[in-house]
Amino acid sequence: MTVNLLNYDLDGLAAFCEQLGEKRFRATQLFRWIHQKGASGFDQMTDLAKSLREKLPASACIEGLKVVSRHDSADGTVKWLFDVGAGDVIETVFIPESDRGTLCISSQAGCAVGCRFCSTGHQGFSRNLTTAEIIAQLWFAEHSLRQQFKQEDRVISNVVMMGMGEPLQNYSQLLPALRIMLDDHGYGLSRRRVTVSTSGVVPMMDRLAQDCPVALAVSLHAPSDDLRSNLVPLNKKYPIAELLEACARYQQSAPRDFITFEYCMLDGVNDQPEHARQLLALMQKHAGEGLSCKFNLIPFNPFPASGLTRSGMPQVMAFAKILMDAGLVTTVRKTRGDDIDAACGQLAGDVQDRTGARERMASQRQGMLGGIKVVVDKGIHT
Ligand code: SF4
Repeated sequence: MTVNLLNYDLDGLAAFCEQLGEKRFRATQLFRWIHQKGASGFDQMTDLAKSLREKLPASACIEGLKVVSRHDSADGTVKWLFDVGAGDVIETVFIPESDRGTLCISSQAGCAVGCRFCSTGHQGFSRNLTTAEIIAQLWFAEHSLRQQFKQEDRVISNVVMMGMGEPLQNYSQLLPALRIMLDDHGYGLSRRRVTVSTSGVVPMMDRLAQDCPVALAVSLHAPSDDLRSNLVPLNKKYPIAELLEACARYQQSAPRDFITFEYCMLDGVNDQPEHARQLLALMQKHAGEGLSCKFNLIPFNPFPASGLTRSGMPQVMAFAKILMDAGLVTTVRKTRGDDIDAACGQLAGDVQDRTGARERMASQRQGMLGGIKVVVDKGIHT
């Protein structure tokens, strides 16, 4: 049986090479060929000993993902759908800006957290991606974009684990992938340019702080436990106070960083001035724990079946102003790739709903609204 070398961080690859009787520097050479040069065949690796090049195919391969389709937005955003087998499809999105190129990567096929405003959550959970499937998204996007732009330098400067799935519910596969991203012999991304976004898996936030304290984004979306439990069901297990304490602990491992709180603006649900004031009170309460944060307000990206709508821009700006007037750093995320449904899960959602999650959510929707009037259909992943 052959192993896919995309599964290995440098230490893993060194252990694999050792089994073949090869020294660590051979692993470093291989690693650089794979990740820095995008090689997929051993015969391309001209500075590897010929004997090793001949030996490798019997036990190893470098296997990327099968592209189902590519969608190019007028604003330069690119979205790929990849087939990961058994009918599962995942999404990866490249977002170019003047000073950076960001890749949004998926960590699972579907997601078990089931956030109400998230298209992926409506598809239910299928399975965890392997390290190879996670890193293959960066490997493929980086090298195919370099070819497309006829450029030898790095195209992707930032990675956000904000695609399909809750990355911290797939921790064992995530961690080597993060290490490959940060490794100078891999993609050489700085710790602050790799962001893990979580809906709040508290024990794994503590693990990540110890193992690989990259930038952290937390999907908050509500200022109170009642509302947050309705929007992000994981809140019932790890309520807001526990989550914010975990954020403060995280910052002890990354003291000069901010935690970014993502807040998806849902019309009439969590976007009222009173919600902004509750958020302020919450942040003030936890400021003493050493929590420094910024807020990212996200215009909700409509998708059929959520029963939610996007807040109007005046509402978003009024909300932002309340936070900013109190001294909280607040940004409003630009929507990108609307013409290609670039928000996570929207294309894959057209492909499948494997678990009947959509029907379950539709029947829960009435309960979720908690007496707040909400209009028609729409959604996003953060
Ligand atoms: S927002 Fe993230 S954690 Fe929530 S359902 Fe979607 S993919 Fe899962």
